[in-house]
Amino acid sequence: MKYFQASCDYAELAKIYGTPLYLYDLDSIQEQYKNIKASFGGFKSLVCYALKANSNLSIINVLAKIGSGADCVSFNEVKRALLAGIPRYKIIFSGVGKEDYEIREALKAGILFLNVESEMELLRIEQIARELFESPTQTRESNIADCSGNSLAQARISIRVNPDVDAKTHPYISTGLHENKFGLDIQTAKRLYLYAHKSPYLNPVGIHYHIGSQILESSPLLESTHKILDLAKSLLSANIELKFFDIGGGFGISYNDETPFDMAGYISQIVRHIDALDLTAICEPGRFIVGNNGAILTRVLGEKRTSNKKFIIIDCAMNDLLRPSLYRAYHHVSYLGSGQGEQPDTNKTLEKCDIVGAICESGDYIAKDRELPICQKGDLLLIESSGAYGYSMASNYNSRLKPAEVGISKDKHFLIRDRETFDESVQSELRYLNNNKFSV
Ligand SMILES: *Cc1c(COP(=O)(O)O)cnc(C)c1O
Repeated sequence: MKYFQASCDYAELAKIYGTPLYLYDLDSIQEQYKNIKASFGGFKSLVCYALKANSNLSIINVLAKIGSGADCVSFNEVKRALLAGIPRYKIIFSGVGKEDYEIREALKAGILFLNVESEMELLRIEQIARELFESPTQTRESNIADCSGNSLAQARISIRVNPDVDAKTHPYISTGLHENKFGLDIQTAKRLYLYAHKSPYLNPVGIHYHIGSQILESSPLLESTHKILDLAKSLLSANIELKFFDIGGGFGISYNDETPFDMAGYISQIVRHIDALDLTAICEPGRFIVGNNGAILTRVLGEKRTSNKKFIIIDCAMNDLLRPSLYRAYHHVSYLGSGQGEQPDTNKTLEKCDIVGAICESGDYIAKDRELPICQKGDLLLIESSGAYGYSMASNYNSRLKPAEVGISKDKHFLIRDRETFDESVQSELRYLNNNKFSV
């Protein structure tokens, strides 16, 4: 199965930019955004791309250009969204551990709302809003920050409700059970909505849930939606004027042979109920937009045989793509030939092998038990479905340098991030090297 559809000359890309190299199909990224948006039909909706899946500014920008909002989990992500051209009134800020300065900056920036994850956080937001809006130095900034006709000087919030539903996904990326650290149970949420409603500093405009990532079945999401719709109804009848119904993200894609999440089917089953309450539907897809539209181009360094196993060692490792090591995730790997530009010979004998990186950890692998042709040093491979949680989880482990990123659009390729250099990687340490105060 080939997921990466951009037409490109891999040998040429490898020659120009080097490997390992992240590639993104910018046209398909836009296409996928448009498909999601179209599932909402004529109903009021806002698709907020979840930046943590891939926060390259150019990728955010191609989405911003066609109307996307942003779901951010740190204030730095909010800054990225703004830099890339997403308007503040389409930005939401989620996350279990927001720092005070992040809350303050988000309120000053006038984003659409903050998703609240705990009672303590709600009280902190209220306190920070009070300080901010009552301070004599209050700038015009916070006045013009209002965007939806709400009274000024209030923090717009939404509460993340934990519906206690099993998303049936990997335990590390499941978030909707009471045993997870995310969100608030329905009773607590209700109490906090009533509290926020009375507070002069808080304006509860939204309701939110997000039960996990890489969800393939719609039943757990439908069950959650109905629970949260019931809660929204009871809040509306208590005169809490909600405006947004945020269904979160987590929509799963195909990495191997899974059937991807049926986004259009799911949305069509819920959007009428949301609209009937006169709420704007918001969704926060990350992986679903970029996952299959990114790939890593990598070169074979060599092979190694033990008595019963063959390893192909490549120049991409767990520091570039952590998902196999962290989640035992599957990524399809395809053989692209010698990298000299000729067509790969598909009649070559296949052999079972593990495809591994050069890092000093047994957990450093990219793929296990795959059938590949006998590879020569310098051959090119493509690691598919690496657009989401690929570069955004990359590190410098083993003092390896982060790869370059290239966007492809209409048969043209554009560098969208330089390959990291060694000088850059040591810069913040080097200036302390010879003037430190410790003696040994
Ligand atoms: C991570 C996250 C998302 C995006 O998840 P995907 O699985 O990439 O769609 C959306 N909303 C919240 C609150 C998140 O934490």
